[in-house]
Amino acid sequence: MRQKQRIGIMGGTFDPIHFGHLVTAEAARHRFDLTKVIFVPSGHPPHKQNRPVTPGAERLMMTLLATVANAHFVVSPWEVDRPQMSYTYDTMQAFHREYGEQAELFFITGADAVLEIMQWRKIDELIDFCSFIAATRPGYRLDGAALSHKLAEKVALMEVPALAISSSDIRHRVRQGEPIKYLLPETVEMYIYKHGLYQKAE
Ligand code: NAP
Repeated sequence: MRQKQRIGIMGGTFDPIHFGHLVTAEAARHRFDLTKVIFVPSGHPPHKQNRPVTPGAERLMMTLLATVANAHFVVSPWEVDRPQMSYTYDTMQAFHREYGEQAELFFITGADAVLEIMQWRKIDELIDFCSFIAATRPGYRLDGAALSHKLAEKVALMEVPALAISSSDIRHRVRQGEPIKYLLPETVEMYIYKHGLYQKAE
């Protein structure tokens, strides 16, 4: 019998993408024996109405530049190309339809975001075909009370020391004229300066 493919879907705003995200995806690929990891920059996140987010086309381009050197990483414009709100349920449904029952899907993202998705109304349907890998910074404590027993079984925590790097710190550093070298791929750093990203106050 053919083994099921195990596919990671790496969701995030990636504003900008940095080495913490790349280390997370590679660690998840290794630990969970994933065939590949598909990076899906978020389109119009329902929980990000207050902060201006860099246009999807630019976040998509930075994600492509950052992942090009890893043969197991691919990038999907699925959320960025859609005008409507990006709910993880809809995104995962689309990948579930594309890969069918022969694939096992793992949604990889930050632990706080996983908790938020878990409180979403269609979660029972979602966990029927999807598991979650919740990446945390060292020392993070997951609020177990937020997860029912059934949900907890579908969530694996993964501590990633490289997540000491954060997108908000990188944006802040660019605004202050501080260096961002060695926090993210050089191509992404060059893209940020060439296109004048993160210069204005948020
Ligand atoms: P966020 O709230 O901006 O981030 C929460 C924390 O997780 C931050 O520390 C962030 O660090 C980190 N993080 C985000 N993506 C990560 C990744 N792929 N790997 C490791 N750490 C990550 O989260 P977000 O980027 O907006 O959302 C993450 C994903 O969850 C997106 O795909 C989003 O669409 C989805 N989401 C869906 C719903 C829903 O369907 N209702 C609700 C919330 C989130 P950085 O700032 O450094 O990235």
